[in-house]
Amino acid sequence: MPEKRDFYIDGAWVAPRDGRDHHVIDPSTEEPCAVISLGGQADTDAAVAAAKAALPGWMATPVEERIACVERLLEIYKTRAEDLAQAISTEMGAPIDMARTQQFGAGAFHLKNFIRAAKDFEFDRPLGDHAPNDRIIYEAVGVAALITPWNWPMNQITLKVGAAAIAGCTMVLKPSEESPLDAMIFAEMMHEAGFPKGVFNLINGDGAGVGTHLSGHPDVDMVSFTGSTRAGTAISKNAADTLKKVHLELGGKGANVIFEDADDKAVKRGVMHMMNNTGQSCNAPSRMLVQKSIYDQAVETAAEVAQKVTVGNAHEEGRHIGPVVNATQWEKIQDLIQKGIDEGARLVAGGTGRPEGFNKGYFVKPTVFADVNNQMTIAREEIFGPVLSIIPFEDEAEAIEISNDTPYGLTNYVQTQDGERANRMARALRSGMVEMNGTSRAAGAPFGGMKQSGNGREGGIFGIEEFLEIKAVSGWTP
Ligand code: NAD
Repeated sequence: MPEKRDFYIDGAWVAPRDGRDHHVIDPSTEEPCAVISLGGQADTDAAVAAAKAALPGWMATPVEERIACVERLLEIYKTRAEDLAQAISTEMGAPIDMARTQQFGAGAFHLKNFIRAAKDFEFDRPLGDHAPNDRIIYEAVGVAALITPWNWPMNQITLKVGAAAIAGCTMVLKPSEESPLDAMIFAEMMHEAGFPKGVFNLINGDGAGVGTHLSGHPDVDMVSFTGSTRAGTAISKNAADTLKKVHLELGGKGANVIFEDADDKAVKRGVMHMMNNTGQSCNAPSRMLVQKSIYDQAVETAAEVAQKVTVGNAHEEGRHIGPVVNATQWEKIQDLIQKGIDEGARLVAGGTGRPEGFNKGYFVKPTVFADVNNQMTIAREEIFGPVLSIIPFEDEAEAIEISNDTPYGLTNYVQTQDGERANRMARALRSGMVEMNGTSRAAGAPFGGMKQSGNGREGGIFGIEEFLEIKAVSGWTP
């Protein structure tokens, strides 16, 4: 079994100072696939010290040179596609073809968009014609702790590292202990791309250990976190004593509102989107709201589509969905499916237990509930598995009310061929993103949420700005 105990600190791979062993589990087989170390306070201190020492030099490096480093990173990233896909597939269970395309592809997409956005951004500019002696300077927030989840691991790591690096921040990355292997390959790429030592550091650890040490560390100026709302709350509280900047990308419970005039692929598209990545996406359209006049037909279609979704080992090629990430997640999903049944929702596809033919691996049946009401547990909690809840609605006003009746506000979806209604809905829905009629957001669009889905934006110029302070200078000599 591969032994991957070292951390990347100050430009070199080093043995942990107070680490303990942790087995990374392959969710397709339930077998360990690597051993890593979970670091402790001394490891965190060493990584933060390296980032702090590198900060003045990196901030003073012209932004063109920082962008050039990210350009080299992108070229190297492309050459490691297969290594990344294999690691992601093994440690978090994304089917290999999907890991090669969507999981790997997301990282290249974000790096490319950051490079383009940064080249168009004025990091240093006059306030305006009315004030010739006033200057606005955007400069790095400082040492940034980057804490990432396992579900779209390269997506989240590139969103944070690409933006922080261009902004001039130095970094300590703590990837999820469920998916450390792809992050360690990423650290090799950062090394090869020639980032000065100390600019990027990686330590493995869990939330209670390294995660908490980072969020409370006096020399960390900012935490950029993607993960659960539970951890986001804990990080915010722990960061409060040092008043560091806290940037949060958290969970979601998106509504997908399907009106009676939606295109005829809308229901199928919604189910497939829900099942993608085995339902483990913060922006999953997990509540399908269907107008009553087309409700029965939509339920029938959704059940048929879900029954055709195949489940399989992540190492096999094909268009199936893989297992969920771990035993805890598997059990949580089983409990929630059972709660759906107990609270009176109508099960029309899937259900509890492993799919037929599996006696090992964290596999879940693609599941659809109809006749869900928005107060049921399955409509309120983020399930993070392949489980769709269908809720009927009467009219536009009721659709808006149900959609917004959730603590979350990440992505909502609207399906209608009436453009004016679509635009009204886009304004009325309380979420950081609204996607209409299956059109995905373009390159450089900001990703992020409102309410308990977080407070930050990632991607494009919006993502870079999160890692920048705005300095106002008066008396500037033009
Ligand atoms: P998680 O919160 O359990 O863990 C995420 C990361 O935080 C891991 O690296 C973990 O070690 C660390 N962590 C956990 N507790 C911590 C603490 N108290 N202090 C510091 N660090 C801590 O989440 P997960 O299970 O890895 O990921 C799934 C969650 O992530 C879902 O809720 C999902 O919606 C969310 N997510 C959000 C977005 C977004 O952009 N909004 C994107 C992807 C995933």
